[in-house]
Amino acid sequence: MTLVLTSLIADGIRAEGTKHYPHECCGLLLGTLNGSQKRAEVLWPVENVWTDEIALTETDSDHSLRDRFYIPPKAYLLADRAARARNLELVGCYHSHPDDRAKLSERDRIGAAGAGGGPDFSFVVVSVRDSNPGEMTTALLSTDGQHWLLEELVIEE
Ligand SMILES: [Zn+2]
Repeated sequence: MTLVLTSLIADGIRAEGTKHYPHECCGLLLGTLNGSQKRAEVLWPVENVWTDEIALTETDSDHSLRDRFYIPPKAYLLADRAARARNLELVGCYHSHPDDRAKLSERDRIGAAGAGGGPDFSFVVVSVRDSNPGEMTTALLSTDGQHWLLEELVIEE
């Protein structure tokens, strides 16, 4: 699969990463899916409401908004409704990694497996160091939920 981001959307993700630094930002992507190409049309920021009550693993309680994010089910529902109203669909989500690589983590995989989203749902991550956004990557969750599959990210100028 390929995920196409307009430069406006890519810049929006980077700006969100900077705005929420040193916390993780998060949100959803509304767009179109045609064959093997997805295109994000609308950036849908969601407040990161992670707390250690949402912990999925025993070690989560040592963490904070600096390295965890949570998009509640209601946010998915609202975004899905907004997407349908525009003839779009939910094509993915994004979050930032403050002072870390733009690489989806094992913890991200566990969270994603719980959230679902389907085999075409993109997980975009942007690295933000000292408030400065850097590399951005995207991946799909394998159908068995056991590993990340990198997908191509194209940013339109
Ligand atoms: Zn992450």
